[in-house]
Amino acid sequence: MLALSAEGILPKVDYAIFADTGWEPKAVYTHLDRLEKEIATPAGIPILRVSSGNIRNDALDPDHRFASMPLYILNQDGKQGMTRRQCTGQYKIKPIKKKVRELLGYPYPQRIPNGIFVEQWVGISTDEFHRAKDADVRYMRNRHPLIDLNWSRTDATRYLDSIGLESTPKSSCLGCPFHGNAQWRHIRDTSPAEWQDVVEFDAAIRAGNARANASGNPLLGQAFLHRSRVPLDQAPIDHVTAAEQAARQHEPPDSEDADEVEQGVVDGCSPWACRGEADAELVQDDFGLTS
Ligand code: SF4
Repeated sequence: MLALSAEGILPKVDYAIFADTGWEPKAVYTHLDRLEKEIATPAGIPILRVSSGNIRNDALDPDHRFASMPLYILNQDGKQGMTRRQCTGQYKIKPIKKKVRELLGYPYPQRIPNGIFVEQWVGISTDEFHRAKDADVRYMRNRHPLIDLNWSRTDATRYLDSIGLESTPKSSCLGCPFHGNAQWRHIRDTSPAEWQDVVEFDAAIRAGNARANASGNPLLGQAFLHRSRVPLDQAPIDHVTAAEQAARQHEPPDSEDADEVEQGVVDGCSPWACRGEADAELVQDDFGLTS
């Protein structure tokens, strides 16, 4: 959308905002720098980098309140569970809203008058239109320009290819539990240092987050980054899924689950585009930014 705006195919935006969790793959930061230099700055579009902290450091810091990641839990009785996801709200939605309020001239906790709002573009394509949602506050109105253009994901990637951005990496935290096996393998096979980083993090959160343990509220079970609930460096990320099998046989996958195991959670972590989750997170009082 930034490139479409810079090229004049879409109207020119006033700003682009990148919510930085502090733990994106190096390739994402490199790509962002390139977008800024080659596309945004020449077009006069500032890229604003906002942050609520470093999700990796916060998880391991006993003195820091931690907004939990969606970790896979193995309870003491052998039952499986997941921790509630708060991280998208804390590390992406919250700092974006804070910046938007500043841009409008009404930083929290000032009341924003009726009729004052930004138009916020969210890059949902036609093949995922079910993810398109309204914002939950009056001062933001969501638009989905790719849907307005009737662009599918293939159209978007074709456009990126045409302007030399075929190497656009997928943005998400390096150790996001929503990764599918394909993403875990990609990290392991292309970036040994980042693989070591996520393996170490996985081991470090086995007993839950540091703050809860320090405050006498330990996790009664074990936490894992991989859905198999096995330590990441032993997890079956090379397992041949039904999706892989089907791809090899040029047939459609016979199981949506197998596809998710391989490709990750479909709705991922995009702010304002998660299935129901973002709304649930935003009812939390401690964000202080929802009204
Ligand atoms: S990418 Fe994953 S870990 Fe990072 S904020 Fe989103 S859901 Fe949380």
